[in-house]
Amino acid sequence: MAEQKGLLIVYTGPGKGKTTCALGTGFRAVGQGLRVLMVQFIKGSWHYGELDAAEMLGTEHFEIRAMGRGFVKIGGAETDPEDMRLCEEAWEFGRAQMQSGRYNLMIFDEINYVISYRMLEAEKVVAALVARPEGMHVICTGRNAHPALVEAADLVTEMREVKHPYTKGILAQRGIDY
Ligand code: ATP
Ligand code: MG
Repeated sequence: MAEQKGLLIVYTGPGKGKTTCALGTGFRAVGQGLRVLMVQFIKGSWHYGELDAAEMLGTEHFEIRAMGRGFVKIGGAETDPEDMRLCEEAWEFGRAQMQSGRYNLMIFDEINYVISYRMLEAEKVVAALVARPEGMHVICTGRNAHPALVEAADLVTEMREVKHPYTKGILAQRGIDY
């Protein structure tokens, strides 16, 4: 018998497929009548297909909020204070939505990346994720997942790069990469 248990899920590692795996899970969840919210910490430089696909499903089912802007400089003293502010704002928004309990699945896209660049404090994030409403699923994506998050998670999958077209000089493909 299926039992309702909110899972903390992490998709990490250097191989391709972290964000698409989260989106695929969101797609599946919508089919089961769950409400999904994806908060994107890093906005890419092009228009992603999933933004329009989510609108086709209906934002009351699958909502994607792209916060932040495409990062130019990141890490240490180089990080632009404006990006730090946007990142904090995205987290505060996501945290509030999570606590509201309005969604059955929340996706924090690229949150591992911003934590690894110390734009968000890992302990603070993990504490909030652990304290989420019961029964709510959460997915965190991005390379270099923090050990504290891995420790707290129920499911962790690491994408390993076996091959990537980029190494042959093939650039990002519409519908596959964005
Ligand atoms: P995707 O969004 O395709 O699932 P991802 O979330 O696993 O990828 P990110 O680290 O978020 O990967 O990278 C974002 C962009 O970089 C995507 O356009 C993706 O196609 C590309 N990318 C991912 N992995 C690799 C890689 N190993 N080499 C080169 N480019 C990559
Ligand atoms: Mg990604």
